[in-house]
Amino acid sequence: MFFSGTDSEKRGKEVRANLFYFAENQMLDCNQYIIKDPTTGELALFDAGNAISLNGLFKGMEKCNLNPSNITKVFLTHEHVDHVLGLYPLVTLRRKNPLEIFAYGETANILSEGDETRIFPGNLGISAKMFGVEIIPLKVIDLINSKEILISSEYKFQIHYTPGHSIGSISYYDPDKKILIPGDLVFIGGSFGRYDFPGGSLHTLINSIKKVNDLDVKYLLPGHMGISDQANQQIAFSYKMIQSINFY
Ligand SMILES: [Zn+2]
Repeated sequence: MFFSGTDSEKRGKEVRANLFYFAENQMLDCNQYIIKDPTTGELALFDAGNAISLNGLFKGMEKCNLNPSNITKVFLTHEHVDHVLGLYPLVTLRRKNPLEIFAYGETANILSEGDETRIFPGNLGISAKMFGVEIIPLKVIDLINSKEILISSEYKFQIHYTPGHSIGSISYYDPDKKILIPGDLVFIGGSFGRYDFPGGSLHTLINSIKKVNDLDVKYLLPGHMGISDQANQQIAFSYKMIQSINFY
């Protein structure tokens, strides 16, 4: 089995000034977010998608007047296939003008080591080859000692360690703009991340959702499905749903 869908455009939408959302549009892909620095024109990309979707992202970006060659930084939420595989073709494309790649703790370690078995969790029955990708060790900047990172002249995100879906999962939170990029921790509609992959844990996931439930958030920008501008309500819903599971 090989995955295809190279040409399907990932449709973009400006969520608020200089913050764009590109919706996943194929199997095993993820939502991606881009922040444009209005002074330098540089672009920061959140999550890399599944590699096959990279051309689709570029097409979507061009429609939003964003030039893919202006991407200078990639920030990852966690180490899973659908969020990181796009790094490999991107790094190859940008050999002469390397990007900075940021990830936290174990995610940074896994990518630095090129540990394919931990990028493809459990028995999904898929491999990098099916996506036309070869996993190689990457140069990654570990966010483990960063409390806060400046993304652009407008956006500054705190780093919150929120494991449970995976061991290296983080949430990016801008307390000023009230934005949360939680990866696969919580989704809209009361959903939350899977906790049955290696390194996952229901108990840990509940604690992590509790942590983001205490934040003041307006924009919920998760790794899959839709986005919301009623984040606190959505997170509270997911928190309620996951606690109900716990009592079975
Ligand atoms: Zn995941």
